[in-house]
Amino acid sequence: MLVFSKIISVQQEIASLKNGTTIGFVPTMGALHEGHLSLVERAKKENDIVVVSIFVNPTQFDNADDLINYPKTIDKDLALLESSYCDIVFTPTPQEIYNNDIQSQSYDFDGLELQMEGKFRDGHFNGVGTIVERLFEIVKPSKAYFGEKDFQQIQIVRKMVEKRNLPVKIIACPIHREKDGLAMSSRNVRLTKEQRAAAPFIYKTLKKAKAKFGIKNASEVVKWVGNEFKNHPLFNLEYFEIADEDTLLSVETKNPTKKYRAFIAVFAGKIRLIDNISL
Ligand code: AMP
Repeated sequence: MLVFSKIISVQQEIASLKNGTTIGFVPTMGALHEGHLSLVERAKKENDIVVVSIFVNPTQFDNADDLINYPKTIDKDLALLESSYCDIVFTPTPQEIYNNDIQSQSYDFDGLELQMEGKFRDGHFNGVGTIVERLFEIVKPSKAYFGEKDFQQIQIVRKMVEKRNLPVKIIACPIHREKDGLAMSSRNVRLTKEQRAAAPFIYKTLKKAKAKFGIKNASEVVKWVGNEFKNHPLFNLEYFEIADEDTLLSVETKNPTKKYRAFIAVFAGKIRLIDNISL
């Protein structure tokens, strides 16, 4: 496994590959877990080589505390990747990516950026678009792998690829969960013992909401979820929405020809957790 922190070095390595070599790319912010590794495995099955980037992208954080406290475990990450199917790791510094101008470009994602995460995290998807486009430019992947854990992000990246006509195929991978149902996340290590023990409540609520939608209208399910969290001693609900998978717009009733998902964001103290479920 090769590790590069300079753009020029990773580009030279990629340019030296035999013509026609397919590259599967997995962008991450590090603090790797089995969810990330499942993307690497899938990428290796479908490509000749796998490139993983580890970069905590400052422009996608709307909250300075969250950026400072984002877990950084580079030695452990490299050891995990070494024993996985990863061929090349790219670990740039913010300066390498942004020079001295740590700013996002502005994107129009046809309104996808105005929903949910976009509504609650100011500028988040401009940051995501900026870093993903930059990394695609550097790595030139055939296919790029993203987790459905961040479902809205996948739709945003797909929209960017479509609008900018980028030569990369976006592959969506299922959410990896802990045995008790909690969606794996780099932020889970920041939960207290008590919060961690209670956290499966989030996915349990999503599953119950799934069972209700269809029998009940979305607004009734939204109200029910709100009540479930109202008196919870550890969690504060930021949003729960039932939306069309393609437009990400909230819906009220179920149309059997369309695909829907329920999306949730919850605060455990200062730690923000997200999850979603296909309905
Ligand atoms: P992150 O490092 O959190 O930015 O995530 C990097 C990639 O891994 C993104 O495409 C995420 O959606 C994906 N990912 C994170 N957690 C999971 C998970 N539990 N299951 C599947 N993919 C995940």
